[in-house]
Amino acid sequence: MSAQQSSERNQVFTREEVAAHNKKGDLWIIIDSNVYDLVAGQDATKIFFSLHRHEVLLKPAYARLRIGSIKDESPTIIAASPGELSAVPYAEPTWLSKGYYSPHKELQKAMRKFVDEIVYPDAQACPGKHLKGLTLMDGIVKPEEFDYFHEMIITQELVRVGARGYGDGMLGGMVIGLPPVMNFGNEQVRSKVMPEVLGGKKFICLAISEAFAGSDVSGMKTTAVKTPDGKHWIVNGTKKWITNGTFADYFTVGCRTDGGFTVILVERGPGVETSAIKTSYSPTAGTAYITFDNVKVPVENTLGPEDAGLLVILSNFNHERWVMICASARAQRLVVEECLKLAEMIARCEAIQSWLENITYQMTKMSYKTMSDKLAGQIAFAKAYSTEGAQKTAADAVQIFGGRGITKTGMGRFIEHYHRTVTFDAILGGAEDVLGDLGVRQAVKKMPPNVRL
Ligand SMILES: Cc1cc2nc3c(=O)[nH]c(=O)nc-3n(C[C@H](O)[C@H](O)[C@H](O)COP(=O)(O)OP(=O)(O)OC[C@H]3O[C@@H](n4cnc5c(N)ncnc54)[C@H](O)[C@@H]3O)c2cc1C
Repeated sequence: MSAQQSSERNQVFTREEVAAHNKKGDLWIIIDSNVYDLVAGQDATKIFFSLHRHEVLLKPAYARLRIGSIKDESPTIIAASPGELSAVPYAEPTWLSKGYYSPHKELQKAMRKFVDEIVYPDAQACPGKHLKGLTLMDGIVKPEEFDYFHEMIITQELVRVGARGYGDGMLGGMVIGLPPVMNFGNEQVRSKVMPEVLGGKKFICLAISEAFAGSDVSGMKTTAVKTPDGKHWIVNGTKKWITNGTFADYFTVGCRTDGGFTVILVERGPGVETSAIKTSYSPTAGTAYITFDNVKVPVENTLGPEDAGLLVILSNFNHERWVMICASARAQRLVVEECLKLAEMIARCEAIQSWLENITYQMTKMSYKTMSDKLAGQIAFAKAYSTEGAQKTAADAVQIFGGRGITKTGMGRFIEHYHRTVTFDAILGGAEDVLGDLGVRQAVKKMPPNVRL
């Protein structure tokens, strides 16, 4: 913009002067103290904000219509700057509110700024490209101090982007595919794969589900058979709905072996084929159908004990479900921020966040193995509670937004996207009914034999 254009856009008027521009071809309006050369000389702030989001005013196409501001008035609608907390009641978890104790606040601030400035615009452009070559977080958290609360913050800040497929594309495979390598891989595999994946150089996914083995993992048909010299596995079979599968370099694969299940890390190579599955969210999630055709894998890539891989799969589900609770709880809060209505919506948000923080605290203290024993039921219940509540919240939000709630652009953009994708959470990582059943079974298992009514 030239200096002349800039001064033309910063003139100061009185309300009376604006009101005089009310004829065809000479129409000015006021929106939140700024003067626009557009239509009849009246203050259109109220009507504008009942039809449009604030960001519309900031778009270059509309910003160029602005010709000045109103004398002695300044804008009352202030968009939060990158990194700032929302001022809307209940739009942030309690621990971020003024006067509350706040652990790990520095990481949260840095993460919020990073998401607002870098991730949000990238997600809205939805290009499927990844964030390469960035130094993140500037060393705020020492690796040895990183705990589940840090991970909760990272997950919850990223969710604020409000682009479900993009989020899963960025982190989904890493969150569920990498932990079995980290917790059950041998030193050789871990030291090769972990830096590559965490450094963003390679991608990984978790490949468990098959067309006939979704909720019922035991229905799995993919096989792994040892070569006669015992040095390799030969993997055959198919996997379905695998997040990040279309672009993954590594596949953490559940296989049927001679005496049970074994989890094996397969590297993309001869015999591995992936094709995209079209779902109702973005292809940036990389949801794939995978074929393994006589894929030769070194036995060193076995994750955890041979024939006892069910433990590896099941213990990994706890972390996956916990991440989904983090995401679901935060996404519901975004809906509250958009609507700020309905006591039930707010109550659901607060309840699940408190439950989540309770579980997260226990996770920071327990070993991975103890977590499987003590927290599997809790996490199953909490995940089902969160995703069930999320569906009610989505329906309530559409009701409040009316036609806007089912319109992909404009004011309802976020609510429409949330409503369209929220059911995913009810199925992924364990369907709600299955998790309810799991939680009750875990509880019954722990019932002392000598207790009677
Ligand atoms: C977009 C997307 C991404 C995915 N990403 C991955 C991934 O990265 N890796 C991976 O391995 N898998 C992935 N999955 C698969 C996902 O884990 C399965 O979809 C899920 O386990 C449910 O299996 P299913 O779809 O076969 O449904 P089914 O197992 O057929 O279940 C359908 C419904 O039947 C009912 N039901 C089933 N069993 C029971 C029971 N025991 N008790 C009560 N009710 C029951 C439930 O209501 C359930 O919702 C993904 C799926 C989708 C859609």
